[in-house]
Amino acid sequence: MLTPSGNAVPNVLAVGIDAAESSYVRKLIDHDELPALKALLSDERSRWLSVRSPAHIGSGAVWPTFMSATEPSVHGMYSEWSWRPETMNLVRYHGLRLPPFWQPLVAQGVPLGIFDVPFALPIGVANGFEVSEWWAHDSTSEGLQAGPPEILEIVRRSSSHPLSANRFVDTTPDNRTDLKELAEACSQGAWLRGELAARLIKETNPRLSLLVFPEIHHASHQMWHTTEPHHPVYSQRDLDEGGPLLRDIFRAVDKQIASLLELAGTDATVLVFALHGMRPALGFPAFLGPLLIERGFAKLTDWRSQSWSQRALSMLATVKRHTPDALKQLYYKTAPTVATHKLARPTMLPVYDWEHTCAFSLPTDQYGWIRINLEGRESRGSVPLSEYEETRDELEKLLLGLVNEEGQSLVADITLTAATAAMALTSPLPDLVVHWEYAAFAPTLQIKGSGVRAELVGKKSTGQHASEGFCIYRGSDAANLEEVVAAKDLGRLITAPLLND
Ligand SMILES: [Zn+2]
Repeated sequence: MLTPSGNAVPNVLAVGIDAAESSYVRKLIDHDELPALKALLSDERSRWLSVRSPAHIGSGAVWPTFMSATEPSVHGMYSEWSWRPETMNLVRYHGLRLPPFWQPLVAQGVPLGIFDVPFALPIGVANGFEVSEWWAHDSTSEGLQAGPPEILEIVRRSSSHPLSANRFVDTTPDNRTDLKELAEACSQGAWLRGELAARLIKETNPRLSLLVFPEIHHASHQMWHTTEPHHPVYSQRDLDEGGPLLRDIFRAVDKQIASLLELAGTDATVLVFALHGMRPALGFPAFLGPLLIERGFAKLTDWRSQSWSQRALSMLATVKRHTPDALKQLYYKTAPTVATHKLARPTMLPVYDWEHTCAFSLPTDQYGWIRINLEGRESRGSVPLSEYEETRDELEKLLLGLVNEEGQSLVADITLTAATAAMALTSPLPDLVVHWEYAAFAPTLQIKGSGVRAELVGKKSTGQHASEGFCIYRGSDAANLEEVVAAKDLGRLITAPLLND
């Protein structure tokens, strides 16, 4: 039997709403704020599933896990910047090494439409469309790419995303006008995205359409406080309550999903999903680097023993740290993204004396990341394999014992990414991932027994990621699915209906 679209099995529409917090989505659905998702969920062929992703390692791990259908220990991605032990520095993620789960379908000539899956670069889709970084919250250094050529032409001629002009770099959570403008740009961007995706679907009629809306991710980091303004973490700062700004962006995305669902037809298998969510924060603690130095785990190179190029780099880092905020904002506003990244990279790590450094922290946008300077893995390693576990235990003890002057713990828990020292030897990940208690976000934090100034960075951010994701699945086999699906297995759910051809 053929479906109305003329296919023996239904088409698939998969829509990612990046970092849409599942409890908030449920709340908005219950309050009739998201009519498209509500109708989708109430379809008798639909199920609400939980999605488990490796968000506890880092937010940068979730999309590569989804896309490559492998765990972070295999694909090695956890951040826009990755540690390279062979060169003892950071490199920008470019996504070129990871084959996506839709590659076999491309090889079989199945028509596909892929639109802005974070970190996924074009792989040569000839039948259908693929668009990468029309606008991305998490970007590679590659910029906008699309194919086949006629699709690139359509995308280039379409309106650009209102967020792409770097207009909102100085938006702060204290300023209602700024937040309102940012929210409007996100809603407008979601509308343009929906229109453009619908146009490409109509032109190419793909069997699988996989589209991601990153606007909610971007907005949630800067306006999560508007959803729960009375959370204690916000009490030390005078933030604008903002009103229902974020809700309005969710509604804008919901409206676009309504159009896409209509286009896909009632027979289509549908997945609307988020790989992780959002919860309160206020900036993020950045004291791990200096703390590890204070406690003797790491040592910086003596100025006199640095080479000239090292000295230039550490000077640049100092200049950048002491540049007034206004000047920094101007710098980020005017510098093209790629140049900003090139300039930022060498200054993100201080110049370590590797011989006397057994553990050091990696720059992060949320959790604390610590890498052990392991012999046989780091090219300038100082910790023998036989001492890996002992070093890790010492670090754990230090971190779990951290308290503020009032005696409140600063660390909630720690993820150890390698089960054994032998496994650590090939691990590309930070060895310890530190999850913070809310007390660690206090702007005036004093760590008990430490002289380290516990400065917060990223103060514009009022949202950090929560680990749980969700998936609304509509399809004839919904009843057979497990209640919890791993992010790395979502691709299998998406492609299964097409592989049964
Ligand atoms: Zn994020």
